Amino acid sequence: MKKQDITDLKLLLSTEKKIVIVPHKNPDGDAIGSSLGLYHFLIKNKHQVNIIVPNDYPHFLKWMPGENSILKYDAQTEISQSLISDADIIFTLDFNALSRSGQMETALSESKAIKIMIDHHQAPDDYAKYTYSDVSMSSTCEMVYNFIIMLNQESYIDANIASCIYTGIMTDTGSFRFSCTTSQTHRVVADLIDKGAQNAQIHNNVYDTNSFERLQLLGCALSNLKVFPEHRAAFITLSQEELNKFNYKKGDTEGIVNYGLSLNNIVLAAIFIEDKQEGIIKISLRSKGHFSVNEMSRAHFNGGGHINAAGGRSELTLKDTVEKFISILPSYNKALNNE
Ligand code: 5GP
Ligand code: MN
Repeated sequence: MKKQDITDLKLLLSTEKKIVIVPHKNPDGDAIGSSLGLYHFLIKNKHQVNIIVPNDYPHFLKWMPGENSILKYDAQTEISQSLISDADIIFTLDFNALSRSGQMETALSESKAIKIMIDHHQAPDDYAKYTYSDVSMSSTCEMVYNFIIMLNQESYIDANIASCIYTGIMTDTGSFRFSCTTSQTHRVVADLIDKGAQNAQIHNNVYDTNSFERLQLLGCALSNLKVFPEHRAAFITLSQEELNKFNYKKGDTEGIVNYGLSLNNIVLAAIFIEDKQEGIIKISLRSKGHFSVNEMSRAHFNGGGHINAAGGRSELTLKDTVEKFISILPSYNKALNNE
């Protein structure tokens, strides 16, 4: 972020403003953590703040401080629309294109509010007056921490803000193990613990609150795992029928794609999840090293993300989506075997 932008933002935020914070559709730990961390910070600065999420988020994030004040656009559309059109400032967090806010896209693009993007995805669109985009960052949460530091307000980071920011860094780095985790990420996390983030409790809240059915669903997913050693690739499928059988709840499939990547010698893993209601197959792609799933998703699956973690969608059937994936693997064979 430019020096002048920081000076402008300090001035902008020095008087009370009506602020809306929006993360991406199907919000994850980083989306909710960064939204809530920023929310608590802006409230401390005496602003009127609302978080509006496009749709619901997983139960394992529903312990976070302030989470019960989050508005859901799909269920509370009218109030959300009036807050968006009345807002002085809209922060968009953890996404790089307004289309990633799903149904909120029109309301956001029509709003006259000053938009501020904080995000770490590749190829950000140019819709915000102020864009803080850095693809080298582990998470949007780490950027919210930096944003607070840039405003010279480190002393405002209390236990609530620290817990929210810690959560998103933890989930987006796979508990500090993905290559996006830097020594600076660890310094930030150490500071957040000093400021009151209860790290062991947060890990427990997010990772150790599985239902029995969720573990059964994981068992089903693992039994569907297919491996292509010649392409160093693996994928998992979950049909709507299988999801229903195990009483699928939002968030139950989170992280399952990583089991494919945990296989020795595998550098590309995918999961294909059928969503009959939306009429799509939701795709998650993960990779190791330099193989870019962001590029693969942009080229073939209508999505994007980061080099090693990307999402996308397909409007083909589950079977045809899998066939498409298998059919494109040979064209990536060289890149996959060079890893
Ligand atoms: P996931 O597979 O967990 O849904 O997403 C992996 C990463 O890719 C996340 O950072 C997520 O925000 C991003 N992502 C997921 N779906 C899409 C998409 O359709 N478009 C873009 N640009 N990014 C996505
Ligand atoms: Mn993120």
